[in-house]
Amino acid sequence: MKRIIYICIMILPNLVFAQWEENFENASLRIDYYHSGRYQIDYFTIQSYQRLDFYSGSHTYLIDETNNGAYKVALFDKRTKRMIFSKGFSSLFNEWQSSEEAKRMCGNYEETVIVPYPKNEVEIVFYSRDSINNWQEVAREDFNEDLLVENEVPLYNIIPLHPVNRKLEERMDLVFLPLGYTKQEKDKMMKDLKDFSEYMFIEEPYKSRENIINIEAIEYYTEKSGIPGLGERKDEEGTLGVTYNMFSSPRYIMTTKLWELNDVTNLLPCDALIIIVNSDVYGGGGIYNYYATCYTGDKAKEVLIHEFSHSFAGLGDEYSENDSDTGLQPIYAEPYEKNITTLVDFSAKWSDMIKKTTPIPTPTTKEYENEVGVFEGASYMPKGFYRPYQHCMMRDLYPFCPVCAKAINDMLDTYSK
Ligand SMILES: [Zn+2]
Repeated sequence: MKRIIYICIMILPNLVFAQWEENFENASLRIDYYHSGRYQIDYFTIQSYQRLDFYSGSHTYLIDETNNGAYKVALFDKRTKRMIFSKGFSSLFNEWQSSEEAKRMCGNYEETVIVPYPKNEVEIVFYSRDSINNWQEVAREDFNEDLLVENEVPLYNIIPLHPVNRKLEERMDLVFLPLGYTKQEKDKMMKDLKDFSEYMFIEEPYKSRENIINIEAIEYYTEKSGIPGLGERKDEEGTLGVTYNMFSSPRYIMTTKLWELNDVTNLLPCDALIIIVNSDVYGGGGIYNYYATCYTGDKAKEVLIHEFSHSFAGLGDEYSENDSDTGLQPIYAEPYEKNITTLVDFSAKWSDMIKKTTPIPTPTTKEYENEVGVFEGASYMPKGFYRPYQHCMMRDLYPFCPVCAKAINDMLDTYSK
């Protein structure tokens, strides 16, 4: 028996490696498409493809098993009909889709996904969630090289901030894009970038995993200092579309110009992107496998880690306040975020991390202050949504709770395998 197990372990990495070699070139396929629709209706319309001369993701973890994200893209080999790659993600369109406006009208957003470049003929398939969060296929299209457009490699300096001596496919490549810095503010930009790369490793579990997190920045300047969206600059268009006040939430920093943004960030391998906004007005944002944003003021250290954990690990907000009409989830479905439950399918969440004697729901008393439990109030809702701990980085900027820490570590493993 022992010998059989040993042989399986020996063969497995070779099999996975063969799958990569058999199916992919060492390059990326950038897919630009329109994501349109309205409440619970999605259309994916591919506009163009680009080939990038590197692929930063894992060569062994090719099928996404995290069940994170509101959408999923997959590649199917046309000959064998087998899924050879998949990746979950969320987007700004998804947040808009949960707004009141989306019940009255259609929306149309630019989106980009980057997948490994296929060697053979493939179909590209997009999935979205149904009302109880199961995956449903919504679009299927043959990859057509005729739609490939030439990509111009942007000419910006790359600033190494936290170099990691591991292969591209065995590390997590984090990219900082500074935004709202004029050329005269170069010194401030350099200082902010250095500070931010240090902030990344103050909190656990990121601190213990710094040996697999590579950080580089793009030296990028704008004509004006700061970004628009508030006060006198309320209606101004932002560079690369980046602005405060997305969906009328003043502190929410986002962009709808995904294609322009990717034209800049496609300069270098990028598993995760953080846009650092030169402004001391509180704000940020983070969407899973999309990007995160963060301002540079007093609370930047905590906001950075909080928002990045949305965008990198797909964690949900554990607080119950809501300042916009987006992001509301149905109470009758189990949310996909690892740190939120409606108790509809709690066994899929952190039930194995709770002591048998801890009551469900758990009272927010001193007795359970440092215990994993099921505390009511999370995901912008005071009732019906539950979080794993009384305090957490995803609720009130305390250190991460054990459930969030595990989700982050699990996600980091998918990049470093
Ligand atoms: Zn947490």
